[in-house]
Amino acid sequence: MITSVYGKSLADWTSLFPLLTPILAGEAVSWFNPQIAPLGEALNDIALSADDVRQASARLQRFAPFLAQAFPEVAASDGIIESELVSVPAFAEALRARYDIAAPVRLLLKKDSHLPISGSVKARGGIYEVLYHAEQLAIRHGLLSEHDDYRRLAEAPCQALLRAHKIAVGSTGNLGLSIGIAGARLGFATTVHMSADARQWKKDKLRAAGVTVIEYTGDYGQAVEQGREQAQADPRCHFIDDENSTTLFLGYAVAGERLKAQFAEQNIVVDAEHPLFVYLPCGVGGGPGGIAFGLKLAFGDHVHCLFAEPTASPCMLMGVYTGLHDGLSVQDFGISNRTAADGLAVGRPSGFVGRSMQRMLDGFYTVTDAELFALLQLLDRTEHLRLEPSALAGAPGFARVLREQQGYAHRLGLHDGIAQGATHLIWATGGGMVPEAEMAGYLNHPDHP
Ligand SMILES: *Cc1c(COP(=O)(O)O)cnc(C)c1O
Repeated sequence: MITSVYGKSLADWTSLFPLLTPILAGEAVSWFNPQIAPLGEALNDIALSADDVRQASARLQRFAPFLAQAFPEVAASDGIIESELVSVPAFAEALRARYDIAAPVRLLLKKDSHLPISGSVKARGGIYEVLYHAEQLAIRHGLLSEHDDYRRLAEAPCQALLRAHKIAVGSTGNLGLSIGIAGARLGFATTVHMSADARQWKKDKLRAAGVTVIEYTGDYGQAVEQGREQAQADPRCHFIDDENSTTLFLGYAVAGERLKAQFAEQNIVVDAEHPLFVYLPCGVGGGPGGIAFGLKLAFGDHVHCLFAEPTASPCMLMGVYTGLHDGLSVQDFGISNRTAADGLAVGRPSGFVGRSMQRMLDGFYTVTDAELFALLQLLDRTEHLRLEPSALAGAPGFARVLREQQGYAHRLGLHDGIAQGATHLIWATGGGMVPEAEMAGYLNHPDHP
């Protein structure tokens, strides 16, 4: 039984931060961020700019011919790794009934769950950082310039260079899958340090792709620490740091302009009368943080981003709410960090993301595992779309926003006309590569309310 945390009694913590009471009791909560600021102001908190995102986007364009050649999965999209934006009306109806929302909602789903190459949101940031590293190495060794055809990377001189270098990463699964598959395919000797909670099929798939998988008995934090230490001892090894990497973050941020183009194609307007609400599952924070940054740059103050976490791993919510950021781990407060949402089983948030994004995010909420399974099954029944548990965390978001009776929703005019013009977007982050037997287990999971 925990009585004191970071020099304060639990009673002091909960009196300073009342929402900690239901959080520590494992209840699902919503917190709307009082620090939210206009974008012009909030951008002062982050050391990255729109120009950095443009450069990341241009880099992905340079790589496209190489990717189209090296990865048959993206040949049809000319080497661009992007997901579909789909409408889910039957799911929306079922969710309105489930959450007792009277008014109709326009609900979209972003299928990062089915992104090519690695079947999760990690195909954005993870693969981008592998590409970035390959490019920098090849340029430094005089084998490539930005004006070259990047298919050169598949030729013998570049391949000899890449094969002499290593990439390592610590992962609960999907980041390892993404970086492992991309790293090995590019030619790097790739090692993935995996936590105990990682799924067996992900380890098997990586080993089949020629990746070295090292398993740890501890959680994600320990796998990262061990991986980082081993990599630091080797100058030819690049360690991909999920918690602090701005490269990874910028790879995710390119999603903003991509989504904006998809909205334009589908004639969906985003403006003051038609705000966009986006619900992003959050683990360590790099993925949702980078995407939210990109969305803010693309849509300005008309987009509202909320992060969703499991009740067992509410690290980003607690970090931003208390101001402790990466000084906090949920386990120190007696929260288990045990969840079936394996992409989200993170006990300590990224301090970089929490501090950089804290005035750009409208809110945070948590979802129980039982609810994630129920939603997974509901989405399958209504839309025949199959996701992994983590990827459902965005689904309850619109109901949390619309039911919010405090200042936030009211300030946005959500009880009045704007609610009708709003678009709500569930960012579905993973599931496309889950094997059938594993998916059958999710679909038959008894643990739903
Ligand atoms: C990694 C992951 C996330 C969250 O990304 P972070 O960068 O860890 O916050 C969400 N959903 C799935 C399925 C993931 O694999």
